[in-house]
Amino acid sequence: MKIWSDEMSEDESGNDGGFGNLYRAREVIFFLVFVLLVVFFFIFLNQSEDQIPNKGSPGNLPSYAKLEKEIDLLVLEIRNSGALPPLKDDFEMDESVDLVSQDYNIVLEHEKTKQYLELILANLQKDFSEEWKNRVLKLRLYDDRFVGRTNNAFALPAETIYVGTTQIMWANNEAELAALLSHEVSHIALRHVAESRRIVKNLTVFAQKAFVAKDFEKVVLLGLAAQKLFGYNEFVGILPLEHESEADRNGQTMLRNSGYDDLALASSLERIEKIFNNNLFSQIVQKRIRDLKNNSKDKSDLNGRGKTFIVSKEEDLRLVQAALQQFLNDLALK
Ligand SMILES: [Zn+2]
Repeated sequence: MKIWSDEMSEDESGNDGGFGNLYRAREVIFFLVFVLLVVFFFIFLNQSEDQIPNKGSPGNLPSYAKLEKEIDLLVLEIRNSGALPPLKDDFEMDESVDLVSQDYNIVLEHEKTKQYLELILANLQKDFSEEWKNRVLKLRLYDDRFVGRTNNAFALPAETIYVGTTQIMWANNEAELAALLSHEVSHIALRHVAESRRIVKNLTVFAQKAFVAKDFEKVVLLGLAAQKLFGYNEFVGILPLEHESEADRNGQTMLRNSGYDDLALASSLERIEKIFNNNLFSQIVQKRIRDLKNNSKDKSDLNGRGKTFIVSKEEDLRLVQAALQQFLNDLALK
């Protein structure tokens, strides 16, 4: 249920392989922001040479509303230009993606937890579309207690789902874990990473063209459009918001089709949300909970009939949780 754009730290393997590093979203955004500052500096220099600061008089700069409109148009262009990278790129995404994330995260090998998650995933997967039914999705357990993002999970290309240990420890039932997996599988099936890759590529190409044409106003606008798409500081970007709500909707349908309680994600989010004190994160989670509840009511004939345990019993989950806790304790003593 990651809400930040950590899914974007992968290589563009489609074409222009030599520029692989340029397509790392974070670097590109930092680069664009840097360019933005440089350009602002030159605009400032230029202005102070030309004239005394003109309080109240309409200068050459476009009005804010016009600027907003231009940025919005640019956002559309950045999102829609060019084709999505081919689907096989998602499947063949190089292994370095996986290794890179293993540097950031402590990947744990805990067989019992892995088997339990695989059992739930298999139950979900039997109801997937033909395209996804037989794909081998990889599961990785990682220690999310010390990375400042407890209760996190995320999906990468190469069909890999990372599940944080606190997600397992905090789960009340099997359906909550199924909800988590179905949400992450949705990110993969809806090709959210491919969409992000296309956007980063377009941003890079557009910026290069603007530089060559010495169109620095365009470079500035591109920087602002990138911020609007991916977010910055306390502002959550358009893309992560859209991707989260799409994955929630799609995951909820998967959950329902497999016979689980389709409010399982809402229940676990409600519990998690309480630990965030009405900050931005909390507001986003509250919106997700509202949407999940509304979507569940839409199918009122099914509401409440879903199961909390299907392929396991409550005691199985508690055994897994106890074994994982023991494993983590032993690890700490090593
Ligand atoms: Zn998500």
